Amino acid sequence: MSLHGDYDPDNIFAKILRGEIPCAKVYEDDICLSFMDAFPQSNGHTLVIPKAVTARNFLELPTDMIGPYMQRVQMIAKGVTKALSPDGVIITQFNGSAAGQTVFHLHFHIIPRQSGESLGFHAAGEMADMTELKALAEQINAAL
Ligand code: 5GP
Repeated sequence: MSLHGDYDPDNIFAKILRGEIPCAKVYEDDICLSFMDAFPQSNGHTLVIPKAVTARNFLELPTDMIGPYMQRVQMIAKGVTKALSPDGVIITQFNGSAAGQTVFHLHFHIIPRQSGESLGFHAAGEMADMTELKALAEQINAAL
C-alpha cells in the first residue's frame, strides 16, 4: 500500500474499533483507543489509534486532531513507563509500506526498551498470549 490512497474501512484496526476483533484494551476515550500490540517487539508494546477519523497515516490526520491525539500518545507513553520502568521507550509511527507500515489506520507505537535486550522484529512472529496482554494492559491502565 502506498503513502496515498483510499482508507479501507475493513483494515484490522477499524475492525478493532468496531469491536469486531478483540484487543487487550489499555485506554479509550472519545479521541483514541489504545491497546497492546498483538505481535509485540518488546514486553509492553502498546498502540494508540485515533477514533472517528479515516486517516491512513499521520499526514492525513486533520490538523485539529493532532493536539488531542498526541496528548493521548504522551499520556499513555507515561503510563507505560510508570508501569513497566523501562530504561528507554521508542515512540514511533510509519507512513506507507515503503516506510514499514503494515496496517493502514494511523497509529503510534510505544515500545519500552530495556538495556541489553534486543528489539523484536516488526509486525512478525507469533501472536502474543491474550491473557498476558490483558494483564499488561490492566497494569498500564492502572498507571495512567
Ligand atoms: P505498522 O506496521 O502499521 O506500523 O504497525 C502495525 C502493528 O499492528 C504491528 O506492530 C503489528 O504487530 C500490529 N498488529 C497486526 N495485527 C494486529 C492485531 O490483530 N491486533 C493487534 N493488537 N495488533 C496487531
